[in-house]
Amino acid sequence: LAPFLKEAGIAPLKPNYPNWESMGLDGHTAGHYLSALSMMYAATRQPELLHRIQYMLAWLDSCQRKNGDGYVGGVPDGKSLWNDIRNGKIDAGSFSLGNRWVPLYNLHKTFAGLRDAYLYAHQTKALDMLVKLTDWFETLTQNLSDDQVQQILATEHGGLNEVFVQVGQLTGNSRYYVLAQRFSHRAILQPLIEGKDILPGLHANTQIPKVIGFKCVADATHNPEWDKAARFFWDLVVGRYTISIGGHGVREHFNPSNDFSSMIESNQGPETCNSYNMLKLTRLLFLSSRQTKYLDYYERTLYNHILSSIHRDSGGFVYFTPIHPCHYRVYSTVNHSFWCCVGTGMENHAKYGEMIYCYTPDTLWVNLFIPSQLSWKEKQVEVQQQTNFPYEPSTSLQIHTQAPIYMTVRIRKPSWINDNYLLVRINREKPQRIPVSGGYADIRRVWKGNDRIQVDLPMKLSYEYLPDSSSWVSLLYGPVVLAAACDTANQTGLWADESRMAHVAYGPLYSVDDQPYILADQKDWLSKIKMVNAQKLTFSLPVRTKDNEDTQILIQPFFDLQATRYTIYFPLLNETQVMQRRREAQEKEKEQLAIRQRTIDEVAPGEQQSEVGHNFKGENTEWGINQNRFWRHAYGWFSYDLSDNHKQARYLALTFYGLDSNRTFDVWLNEVKLATISLMGDKGDSFFVTELEIPKSIRESDSTTYTVKFVPHPGSLAGGVYYIRLMK
Ligand SMILES: [Zn+2]
Repeated sequence: LAPFLKEAGIAPLKPNYPNWESMGLDGHTAGHYLSALSMMYAATRQPELLHRIQYMLAWLDSCQRKNGDGYVGGVPDGKSLWNDIRNGKIDAGSFSLGNRWVPLYNLHKTFAGLRDAYLYAHQTKALDMLVKLTDWFETLTQNLSDDQVQQILATEHGGLNEVFVQVGQLTGNSRYYVLAQRFSHRAILQPLIEGKDILPGLHANTQIPKVIGFKCVADATHNPEWDKAARFFWDLVVGRYTISIGGHGVREHFNPSNDFSSMIESNQGPETCNSYNMLKLTRLLFLSSRQTKYLDYYERTLYNHILSSIHRDSGGFVYFTPIHPCHYRVYSTVNHSFWCCVGTGMENHAKYGEMIYCYTPDTLWVNLFIPSQLSWKEKQVEVQQQTNFPYEPSTSLQIHTQAPIYMTVRIRKPSWINDNYLLVRINREKPQRIPVSGGYADIRRVWKGNDRIQVDLPMKLSYEYLPDSSSWVSLLYGPVVLAAACDTANQTGLWADESRMAHVAYGPLYSVDDQPYILADQKDWLSKIKMVNAQKLTFSLPVRTKDNEDTQILIQPFFDLQATRYTIYFPLLNETQVMQRRREAQEKEKEQLAIRQRTIDEVAPGEQQSEVGHNFKGENTEWGINQNRFWRHAYGWFSYDLSDNHKQARYLALTFYGLDSNRTFDVWLNEVKLATISLMGDKGDSFFVTELEIPKSIRESDSTTYTVKFVPHPGSLAGGVYYIRLMK
């Protein structure tokens, strides 16, 4: 609450939380927290949760009243930002608006928290506050042109359009639909309507909430074009970009759909927030279409990404789930970590009850096989689902009715069952094959008193390739992704601290070439996988090691693995591919050896040890990490000393990143200007090396120390510099 109190000019009771709650995204967590409390209260009815909801609302209400204009938010120095926006002063980048870190994304969480406190915990005060906040926003932006609004929407803004539609639905005032349409980002909407894939390179989680909003607008205003856009987006993401666990993205962005090598290489795989949002979109698409493909994705993602993203003992949440073989995940720690995925994480695990059941007038839809209890009050029907699924290949539903009732119970036939029927047993009758139509097996009858339905859910092993069809496979048992635990060594930062990038698993990446692979030459390799323990769903997978030994490794549900290095995707290779891989590895090694032989001295900017060892100096300079590589840049300048004791150096080799753009700076060596470098962002998503010749005057001087200095041109930035080598 502290950020909200501060912004309202009320003395905070406690300081801000650290991490992202003190780094510009102040306040984003409170909205998620309010949503999570409300959902958990709906699921459990625990009075303590209601107490906390009301406590939060009371303080937020005080802030809103104090602000006086309907605004309530934690965006640092928000009022001056909103003033600028009111006056059409818009300075929008992908992740900053008016130099604040995604302020509208932040504010969307407050909107959503208030909405959920009303929807799930029935707090009318929350609806009142939500409407005031929406009215404030509408007034704030009323004089902006549509073009100016679109400029604002270039910055990540969560699902503002989603919330505005819902305010319209909750108040019955269609004026808010207009606001939702106005705050829908056309640069994304239009290509989706046209059926164009513009996703590669885009920040993934920025887009999904916009599409959730498109779908909400489509449903509220019966707009088939916007509906088509939402469906196309879903088909695209799930069909071309999604891996076995249901997640997508590398370093938060969509990778090219025909090349997943960056995902294999990276320590930053799918982000949990994205799957959280995809499930929200999936739910909406299912509800309006009733197509079970949406539920198949929902189930897959729920078990394998969402369920696996919480540490069951500590409650820590996961941000990235890398699929680099034998890498690991970092867990958030209480009161230290305030990432986006902590916010959505709190919500994720409060809503396992969602989507298990749906209903239409005389039909109960059973979508998921999760132990649960349902009260269908209008029908006076109580349903109890008992199962240990997926550890048991069946589920049972006990249907209690007050009086005999004619009704259909529709049971979903998951896509991982190939038959076109479900084997069902009702009470003590003999088992019957119920044909599947529209993805469900329908049981139509008069239910009286206390009936029991037993459903067989036979699971079997299967595998699927990465979407680019490269030779990486993930193994599944039914909907459950199986993975291997590797070891627990060198999991640097496993428990996150408060630093800005603590959510990334920086520990050493193991060489892909060292990992065991599945030999594809035997056609029936899948049948060689044997179940070890049916209760734990463990299997033994025959693999070949890099030393050419045949052995077995244990695979088990990925969601059962925590705080360990793991492998989800295994190389599936035939002998020719194995030879090819070896040759490539040798060539790479030869290249690296040649570079090493030419290198006299080297600096890794941004890496502490390397910088200290080379007399790093600088002003107004920052460092960071991109694609596992450290960099440094400066608005001021920075320099290092390199040594050439035998006076052999001829070149200075500098490594830059191909997408860094609009940066012009000078490179100085011992007070001589070597070159002016302009990074134009035209070299693609990869690194490149520029070699600068060292002038004779410096080579022939007595000095054996070379000071390399990077100085930006006025108004520009020097760097990022990723590597510096002094070379023969
Ligand atoms: Zn996230």
